[in-house]
Amino acid sequence: MLKGKTALITGSTSGIGLGIARALANEGANIVINGFGAPAAIKRVESELQTLGVRTIYHGADMSKPDAIEQMIHAAESEFGRVDVLVNNAGIQHVAPIESFPVDRWDAIIAINLSSAFHTTRLVMPKMRQANWGRIINVASVHGLVASADKSAYVAAKHGIVGLTKSVALETARTGVTCNAICPGWVLTPLVQQQLDSRAERGKLDAEGAQQALLSEKQPSMQFVTPEQLGALAVFLCTPAADQVRGAAWNIDGGWYAQ
Ligand code: NAD
Repeated sequence: MLKGKTALITGSTSGIGLGIARALANEGANIVINGFGAPAAIKRVESELQTLGVRTIYHGADMSKPDAIEQMIHAAESEFGRVDVLVNNAGIQHVAPIESFPVDRWDAIIAINLSSAFHTTRLVMPKMRQANWGRIINVASVHGLVASADKSAYVAAKHGIVGLTKSVALETARTGVTCNAICPGWVLTPLVQQQLDSRAERGKLDAEGAQQALLSEKQPSMQFVTPEQLGALAVFLCTPAADQVRGAAWNIDGGWYAQ
């Protein structure tokens, strides 16, 4: 379905981004991988995707740095011509009450989880408009729709990216470019593992107990969303069936937002 097209997924060396990269590669898209990690592990990701018959490049741009983002988009365009599918996924978390929230963590979360999507989107847009086809998929969060305590920067950034999604969707409404947000609930990735570890330590819980405690608080299904399910949703948003899905904030959250 995406043969000959190019997908750039920020933060695709791990977790949700990697799940989406696999799903898009499975549909034939060439892949630009981004994110941090050991060179050998990143090579393994590239080799795995290449076995699906697609081309890949890796660019290690730090998504908090506009200049590096610009270099990454140029590298993608010089390798593949243009970016057809942009998935803004890179993200970090920090949990602390507002009065002790470290200022540098606030700045980093806003830069990586929100501003990076402004930069990638503005940079890929001219070629998407020219081609009259494009898909921008912003990995927001259920925290783009509702809040939790002690996550001020994350919630602000995720609400921000849902707003950015709507603006870009309106600006492109009469074109073949669509822009939507995906809003996952809990997904068991390294980002959430950190929160599980601190919950286990605080509550003197084993791994299973910490997972149950985390899920029971917010996620009625009591099951994690998987990167594969998020990959399948991203693929759907690339199909013609989704041509008129525009400016949506699509929650996939085990019922979290329904409460
Ligand atoms: P993860 O930690 O497994 O992956 C994060 C990815 O972003 C990694 O590839 C990492 O290298 C990359 N990254 C981090 N900082 C970066 C930077 N400065 N520049 C470039 N890349 C950087 O986390 P994940 O859970 O897969 O999260 C992916 C996205 O999904 C995030 O935006 C997160 O907020 C969102 N999300 C996660 C969950 C969840 O429960 N895991 C729920 C909702 C939304």
